Amino acid sequence: MKHSIFYNGQWQSHQGDYFNVYDPSNGESLGLVPSASKNDMKKIIQSAYDSFELWSNKTAEYRCDLLEKLYDLVLAEKEEIATIMTKENGKPYGESLGEVIYGANFLKWYSEEGKRIYGQFIPSSQSNKRIMVRKQPVGVVYGITPWNFPFAMITRKMAPALAAGCPFIIKPAKETPLTAIKFFELVEKVGFPKGVANLVTGDAKKITEVVMNDERVRKITFTGSTEVGKLLMSQSSQTVKKISLELGGHAPLIVFDDADIKKAVAGTIASKFRNCGQVCIATNRVFVHESIQADYTAALIEAVKVLKMGNGFEECVKIGPVINKKGHDKIHLQLEDALSKGANLLLGGQSHHVGKVDSVGYFFEPTIIDQVTTNMDIFYDETFGPVIPIITFTNDDEAIKLANDTPYGLASYFFTESISRGFEVSEKLDYGMVGFNTGAISSAQAPFGGFKESGIGREGGHFGLEEYLEVKYICLEI
Ligand code: NAP
Repeated sequence: MKHSIFYNGQWQSHQGDYFNVYDPSNGESLGLVPSASKNDMKKIIQSAYDSFELWSNKTAEYRCDLLEKLYDLVLAEKEEIATIMTKENGKPYGESLGEVIYGANFLKWYSEEGKRIYGQFIPSSQSNKRIMVRKQPVGVVYGITPWNFPFAMITRKMAPALAAGCPFIIKPAKETPLTAIKFFELVEKVGFPKGVANLVTGDAKKITEVVMNDERVRKITFTGSTEVGKLLMSQSSQTVKKISLELGGHAPLIVFDDADIKKAVAGTIASKFRNCGQVCIATNRVFVHESIQADYTAALIEAVKVLKMGNGFEECVKIGPVINKKGHDKIHLQLEDALSKGANLLLGGQSHHVGKVDSVGYFFEPTIIDQVTTNMDIFYDETFGPVIPIITFTNDDEAIKLANDTPYGLASYFFTESISRGFEVSEKLDYGMVGFNTGAISSAQAPFGGFKESGIGREGGHFGLEEYLEVKYICLEI
């Protein structure tokens, strides 16, 4: 089936090239998606720009009502969206359904928060001056999203942008554009004014180049690798665009000597194996106190052993395929490197390939290794796969120092039954997000984002709305 791009309020006929989307569990083709040309991109920007005045001047209630309508449509078709997501991404169907509901929550939350964009009246030091501050939409926004959360990464950007009064253009990842296309069928039904919500697919570099050279696009919001994030940061400097970056992570999970081991194991599973470990906030390094290392490891092996691997539509499957060969090879190389430098394989370690296409169809067993040290690649590089490396520590300072020893600073987790220790550790961890006795931290109300090379800005909650607003100061002399 051949799909289309959506702009100026309608699906557009496409004359140019298409690209194939594959099912990562077996390599079957799922459909053809347009490769937008530079000229298409110019037309998309024009239509978004043309809609700005109308959209930003609508009342907050008007904009928020449309977002709420979109939320209702998404929930009514959540199973269909989840089915498409499992086909193109491979994640277990239950996880896809969970992502649709999580993603829909951003539509709902910003349909409420969008009514609360307040300014300020600041007391002046001069009696004849009045200082007023108002917030106003930044302008046309261009969003780029990755394949690992094909739905929620879009709504986490689009809902606050539209609520703030900004027209929005989304470019989903080439591996997972079909979820976005299905979502835009619902966007079309809502009836946003022409040009307010737009979907473009195709060569990321080519399309983005047009955006970066166009001063009318005022904001870039990106989720993806740190490498591409740095590139976009430098490109967006040409026209000094506002920029938000949600980049890579290398989350530590610390199990202190007074941890509840059952809780710690459940938290490790929750934070590690979602989407086959292909998650920016996935636990990538487990630090365990030497006194409980044996008990924790034994319990973890028992819990991981039962995780069924396979096609995401099969019953009880918890581990789907790796997205592609590149992803598979990275996991494989990290594991080989660790084992060659003295790590000990406790579980898993094998992978296999199915299907006819070489580029996709890879499964990697859930894997646990211990005796991991800082000279191994897995200690510093984001894994994006189902491998748990265990490192043993002897005191709190050592654990925190090791946990912070990374250029990333996205998510972190720890387990302790002591509130005082927990507070101290949460303050010392150099991360934008901290899970204290939990491995599940994402929610629409909370500020999601990272320190250091994990990004700039926040998504979710009222912080997420600020990213799409400019602050205007008005000084009145009376
Ligand atoms: P990626 O290679 O950076 O791709 C992400 C998106 O950027 C895709 O849409 C991709 O388009 C596009 N892109 C690639 N090169 C580009 C360029 N030169 N100019 C403009 N756009 C470009 O990352 P990925 O491998 O797909 O995703 C995994 C990464 O995302 C991991 O590092 C993960 O930690 C991070 N991530 C972060 C968060 C967060 O919230 N912090 C959430 C999820 C994932 P194409 O697909 O068309 O190439």
